[in-house]
Amino acid sequence: MTAATATAKYDGTGAFPEAEPAARAPRQRGMQVAVTMILVAGPFVGLVIALWMLWGRGVGLADIGLAVFFYLLTGFGVTVGFHRCLTHRSFTARPALRVALAIAGSMSFEGDVITWTATHRRHHAFTDRPGDPHSPYRFGTGPVGQLRGLAHAHVGWLFGSDPIPTSPQRYAPDLLADRSMQRVSSAFPALCVASLALPAAIGWALGAGSARAALLALLWAGLVRIFLLQHVTWSVNSLCHLLGNRPFTTRRHDRATNLWPLAVLSLGESWHNTHHSDPACARHGVDRGQIDLSAGLIRMFERAGWVSGVRWPSAARLERRRRLPVDVAAQVPGRSPVLTPAPDGAARATST
Ligand SMILES: [Zn+2]
Ligand SMILES: [Zn+2]
Repeated sequence: MTAATATAKYDGTGAFPEAEPAARAPRQRGMQVAVTMILVAGPFVGLVIALWMLWGRGVGLADIGLAVFFYLLTGFGVTVGFHRCLTHRSFTARPALRVALAIAGSMSFEGDVITWTATHRRHHAFTDRPGDPHSPYRFGTGPVGQLRGLAHAHVGWLFGSDPIPTSPQRYAPDLLADRSMQRVSSAFPALCVASLALPAAIGWALGAGSARAALLALLWAGLVRIFLLQHVTWSVNSLCHLLGNRPFTTRRHDRATNLWPLAVLSLGESWHNTHHSDPACARHGVDRGQIDLSAGLIRMFERAGWVSGVRWPSAARLERRRRLPVDVAAQVPGRSPVLTPAPDGAARATST
């Protein structure tokens, strides 16, 4: 069964009809599980050790400062670089900045730049229907299916349970044809090492050559920072398709939501309903008070002349996509009412 056939059979509430699994050697699958375990469990082990070392002693300002610095560096690498620049082409960056952003994003332990881009483009092509690599609706909209789906969308999908692996040839041919992106992609293992070694080296230098200072910086600005950023990014895949509101229209079955509590930590990515409604738009937090730090950074790059052709939101385009209160929508032909997620995962019209 192809993804298209599976979609035709999908009713919007049941589990996804399974597409036929691709033939994958058990050794290849085992390798993927092992590598993913290191990338996912490693930062968690770091968190446990860091908390144990912190117990009763406090944590140094230098460690917190370094952790915030590396969080922003690698976080913007993912949101501004991987996501808005490379996946959705919301703006054109100068070649050096494009490479720098791809390097920064690769240091987030979220996979190499080409695989990340291909997977995310596939997520937009099949959002919340068969073919989506990480939809929380994969196992249906009942309470058990929803819990399983949440675990799958958050982290389970990384372990290769997808019946059809994402093809970079199909979803990211532009990056495959770009030699600089190919180089950054093959440097992924080295960039993971650098993501840990750099904070440790800076901590060592700031601590006048103390091994303990290097270790604390490695834990807080390395492993704990990676752990937090990974789970914030994955929460956009899981929570931002389940909780929150949906002020803008999206494609059929697409249940992406705006979830304000994650706005700052996700650097603006949790305005996810707005993003799914207009994926190429460079700003995701478009309404008053919606903090979008990534859009702020793109604006700074634009002022500095480092990026061009930024696709900023247009008021007319936004208004065409905005859902109206249910009583108003009834009066306007072709306009959709506001939707909020119901406990069973189905979106319902509300008058709020
Ligand atoms: Zn999404
Ligand atoms: Zn996207």
